[in-house]
Amino acid sequence: MAGTIEQSRRQRIAGLGYEYETQPKQALSACNLCGASQFVVLTHRDRYGFPAQAHACNRCGLVFLNPRMTAQAYGHFYDGVYRPLVSAFHGRLIDARTIQAEQRDYASERAEFIRPFMTRRSGATMLDIGGSTGVVAHHFAREFGSKGTLIDPAPLEVEQARQLGLETITGLVEEHDFGRRRFDTVIICQTVDHLLDVAGTLARVRQILANDGLLFIDIVDFRAAYLRNWSVEDAVKIDHPYYLTEPTMTAYLRSAGFEVLRSDYAADHLHVSYACRPGIADEGAMPSAASVEALLREVRYVQNAPRT
Ligand SMILES: [Zn+2]
Repeated sequence: MAGTIEQSRRQRIAGLGYEYETQPKQALSACNLCGASQFVVLTHRDRYGFPAQAHACNRCGLVFLNPRMTAQAYGHFYDGVYRPLVSAFHGRLIDARTIQAEQRDYASERAEFIRPFMTRRSGATMLDIGGSTGVVAHHFAREFGSKGTLIDPAPLEVEQARQLGLETITGLVEEHDFGRRRFDTVIICQTVDHLLDVAGTLARVRQILANDGLLFIDIVDFRAAYLRNWSVEDAVKIDHPYYLTEPTMTAYLRSAGFEVLRSDYAADHLHVSYACRPGIADEGAMPSAASVEALLREVRYVQNAPRT
C-alpha cells in the first residue's frame, strides 16, 4: 500500500516535467552562519526524489542545500513550479487561493504569541518579508492597528496582498532600497528557510527595524521535520535552501544583533517561533560543539536505527 502511494506520488511529480538536474546551480564553499568551510554531506536526495544534497557545517551545525540553485533558477522555480510541485507531492491542489485558510489559522495563533510585546505599538508600521498573499500581514495589521507593508518576489501572490489593502513591494528585501524608512515591527513568517542568504537578510532587517522595534520570525525545525517522519531525506526539499534548528537560528539572531524575548513551539510541533528586539550583535554567539555533535549523532541514528 505504502509502495502504491509512493509510486503515484512519483508519477505526479514526474508528470510536471521539471528538470532539477539541469537547473543552474552554485556550489557553496563557506557556511552562511559561521564562515567555516568543512561540511559533512547528510543526504543525497530530497523528498521529491530530486538529487539534492543537504550538507551540515562541521563547526556550527548549519544545514543547507549544496550545491543549490542560483537566484535566477529559484525565480523560475517560484514562477509556476513550486505550488504545482507541492500539490503533486501531497496529491491535492495547493495554490495562492487554497493556502489562505491555513494561513488564517496560522496568523491567529502567531498574533497571540506576539501580542504581549505589541501592546504599546498601536498605529505602528509593520513590514512582512516574504508575506505571500498577505493573509498574515492583513491579520496582524488589523489586530494591532498597524500600517501593513508586504514584500515578496511572487507577482501573483503580491497582487492578492494588494487587494487586501496592504502596501506591496514586488522584490527581495536584500535588494530593495527602503531609503530612510524604518518599521516598528518586521515579520518573517514561514520564509527564512526559503531565503538564499539568511545572514544578509537578518543584517538588512536589523537596519530597517526601529531601535525599539520587534522582529517576529519562525523556522521549520529541522529536527522536528526528520523525527516526525523518521527520515532525514524526507525532511529535505529543494524549496528550502536552509534547515534550521534551535541552536543555529538562535546563533543567527544573536550574531545579527537581536535579543530573543520569547521562543515558542507551535501547536503543529513543527515550527519554532521567536519574538526578538534589537540588541548588541554578538558575532561569537555560535552553537556549541556539543550541539553540532548531538545533531550529527541523531541524524545517523534516524538514518540507521529501525523505526519502532
Ligand atoms: Zn557553520
